[in-house]
Amino acid sequence: MRTIGFIGGMSFESSAVYYRLVNEMVRERLGGLASAELLMHSVNFADIVALQKAGRWSDAAARLGDAAIRLQIGGADCVLICTNTMHLIADDVASHISVPVINIIDETAAALKASGKTRPLLLATRYTMEHGFYTERMDRHGISVIVPQSDDRTIVHDIIFNELCAGTILDSSREKLMAIIERAKAVGADSVILGCTEICLILDPKALPLPGFDTTTIHAQAAVAFALEDEPMRATNAA
Ligand code: GLU
Repeated sequence: MRTIGFIGGMSFESSAVYYRLVNEMVRERLGGLASAELLMHSVNFADIVALQKAGRWSDAAARLGDAAIRLQIGGADCVLICTNTMHLIADDVASHISVPVINIIDETAAALKASGKTRPLLLATRYTMEHGFYTERMDRHGISVIVPQSDDRTIVHDIIFNELCAGTILDSSREKLMAIIERAKAVGADSVILGCTEICLILDPKALPLPGFDTTTIHAQAAVAFALEDEPMRATNAA
């Protein structure tokens, strides 16, 4: 089995989900007491949030690049950045190492395409919804992402940072997210990307008004496929 390398801690609430998912998937595939070979470098999220707020993306890339190098030296055969937002600097992180970075945007695009979906609503942090890196990379795969309108972006962003990353799950926030999905459905969305790795803590992708694509699960599945050498590798360090 190949060794998975996680850059986690962004937040640890979702890294814990990744850890459980990859181990459950490996046990399901191999049976018995099988579990994943993995390394996690978990960062102090407060430091990363400070860099995000200051727009210091190249400093964040240096920090995560250093984590990626440590994972590679430790024996990781691939690296996953366990957050959608920090894929803003994924290609920069990938340039620090020779093992592949499994990109959450590419994997999610592949899952959407396999289901024939091309107009997904994106629920994510403000950075992911507004900085263009996500929608542009999806575009390259022929996926035309719908971003919520401004007030709704604020609602989603605040739920992620003030509640989900802090371990708080509120029914009232679930209702707000559901209302945003209904509004997107009304304007032609055919699916929803749970485009933040904590959103699966509050929304069940199978219980939405539109088909849901959970990036945490999709990313974990890609890691396991790589670890078990299931399929030709999609991961590439080229932009
Ligand atoms: N985990 C989140 C994501 O998938 C947000 C935390 C972060 O800013 O990295 O985007």
